[in-house]
Amino acid sequence: MNHAELRAELHALHLELPKNSLVTWTSGNISARVDGGLLIKPSGVTFAELTPESMVATDLDAQVIEGDLSPSSDTATHAYIYRHLPDVGGIVHTHSPYATAWAATGHAIPCVLTAMADEFGGPVPCGSFAPIGGADIGQEVVRVLKGHRSPAIILQSHGVFTIGKTPLAALKAAVMVEDVARTVFLACQLAAARGVEVQTLAPADIDRLHHRYTHVYGQHQETP
Ligand SMILES: [Zn+2]
Repeated sequence: MNHAELRAELHALHLELPKNSLVTWTSGNISARVDGGLLIKPSGVTFAELTPESMVATDLDAQVIEGDLSPSSDTATHAYIYRHLPDVGGIVHTHSPYATAWAATGHAIPCVLTAMADEFGGPVPCGSFAPIGGADIGQEVVRVLKGHRSPAIILQSHGVFTIGKTPLAALKAAVMVEDVARTVFLACQLAAARGVEVQTLAPADIDRLHHRYTHVYGQHQETP
């Protein structure tokens, strides 16, 4: 895929963020790996104003190669992740409300739904608080997600990062993490109101579900 096609795809994927209620105003961004660098949303531009041409190309040190605008303030984080996780081809960052509410508690989202076992292979892990702008967030994302089954992490007091082989796969994980974060939040409220516990899935069941989802489920085409 050439840069023009990738710019068009990345623009289209960005429009899915407000459509799925994952972002507010200019927050949130998606990047795609390109040869020797990455393509990412420009900083401080609303989703309505974005165009394919406005996407900014940088190298893996987050230095602009192509584009008139400044790249997202999260570019150093994306670059760090691409440098350290060679299989990652796309990254999504949001402050989607339910997942970020869990992040504010500083705890993982417990694996209490088959959909979580399927998509995340267990609880959605919560990384420690890290300051914005430098390599700290990237280091925390890589520390937690390297070798982990989950393509998503919530970062304490901040929000969500998801990774995938493609930007579309990372976007799917970002949509799914918000969906399960909402359902588990509702389950916790309901359980508290009824004086019962939310039921955590047994590790063996999680393994079976995750294996089925990643090996048997679907059309056996390449994952998005
Ligand atoms: Zn953020």
